[in-house]
Amino acid sequence: MTRRNTPPSPGRRIPWPESRSRPVATPLMPSVVYAAESPDALDAQYEGRLAGWTYAREGHPNAAQLAGMIDALEGLGGPGRLGGVMTGSGMAAVSAAMLGLVQAGDHVVGADQLYGRSLRLLAEDLPRLGIATTLADATDADAIEAALRPQTRAILIEVVSNPTIRVADLEGIAALARERGVALVIDNTFTTPRGFRAGAVADVVVHSVTKLLAGHSDATLGWVAARDAETAGRIATAVQTWGMTPAPFDCWLAERGMHTFALRYDRAEATAARLADALARMEGVGRVLYPGRADHPDRARAGRLLQGRWGNMVAFELAGAAAPGAGRAAANALVRAMPGLPFAPTLGDVGTTLSHPATSSHRGLSAEGRAALGISEGVFRVSVGLEEPDALIAEFEAGVAAARAALS
Ligand SMILES: *Cc1c(COP(=O)(O)O)cnc(C)c1O
Repeated sequence: MTRRNTPPSPGRRIPWPESRSRPVATPLMPSVVYAAESPDALDAQYEGRLAGWTYAREGHPNAAQLAGMIDALEGLGGPGRLGGVMTGSGMAAVSAAMLGLVQAGDHVVGADQLYGRSLRLLAEDLPRLGIATTLADATDADAIEAALRPQTRAILIEVVSNPTIRVADLEGIAALARERGVALVIDNTFTTPRGFRAGAVADVVVHSVTKLLAGHSDATLGWVAARDAETAGRIATAVQTWGMTPAPFDCWLAERGMHTFALRYDRAEATAARLADALARMEGVGRVLYPGRADHPDRARAGRLLQGRWGNMVAFELAGAAAPGAGRAAANALVRAMPGLPFAPTLGDVGTTLSHPATSSHRGLSAEGRAALGISEGVFRVSVGLEEPDALIAEFEAGVAAARAALS
């Protein structure tokens, strides 16, 4: 390694130290701009004849590196094939998918159980831009079909719903989308590519990388990919024009998380299965929702789609807490009796987190609206993390016992 001894001058950076050996860990490249060798070289870059970066909002190495890892997991991208692009959040990925697929006068069908902000995007923001939307039950392909119009361009669904852990009628909806020439958009955040290869069936796949993929609750990111070149191009342009490109540091952090994603997922999933069974045996728990359990309402479909990859998300309802008035006191008692578990509206962290949909993701609904979805004050959603399973189950035993005491 050589280092030239140039006297420092304001605004002049001394040359980067040369090295014939290369770093093992991915370098963090915060540079916003990249200097081209000449106008000819810049031309060649813009025309795709020469590889090179220009301006970070148009793309940068840390985003490309991370996108390539997610491409590989979804079976998209690779040499000569299209891959996904990184965005500054999961919602930016959902928004970019919509911006790439639809325009004023078009119609979008969405599942009636989607991530809260996606529901808002469909219910309020797209209509404001002249894009009509309809929400329908994604566990029933006939309900989705009934919502289609001649102007429908896209169907947006999640494979497993939040927080009720229902499984979409994906086989029926994918066949319908193909038959009608409508783009199928799958938000695969919950299931992850380890639970379900959305890239094999969807026209557009989105992820909130913030959750299980990055996995440490320290980076907010999304990823979006389309199978056909035209849509992929429109999405990439939307990301650049609407300014959705993420910061290099977040991508760098998430890449680090991605290296352990498979290990974390497998461990959390194994613990989730144990916790689901343990909860079902606890006095004070009314019902447990986990796709791997025989009593799950969509068990057969879950078996075909997820093939044993039941995931790290478990929901349960306290017994007797559905009665009006009773539930909140029990819910408060449960959370207070589990001080080690963050009561936080997220999922996919290295640690187990607990959420209460009635006061977070579904607080915008009326009590009747929540009841129609089966979300009482006694419903909790658990994102299982990497804790020692027996210790985690013991914490839930304490929480459920406290909730029972509050109800009696
Ligand atoms: C969190 C989440 C999003 C949004 O992701 P952000 O990174 O928070 O913007 C979208 N879809 C699902 C299913 C999510 O869980």
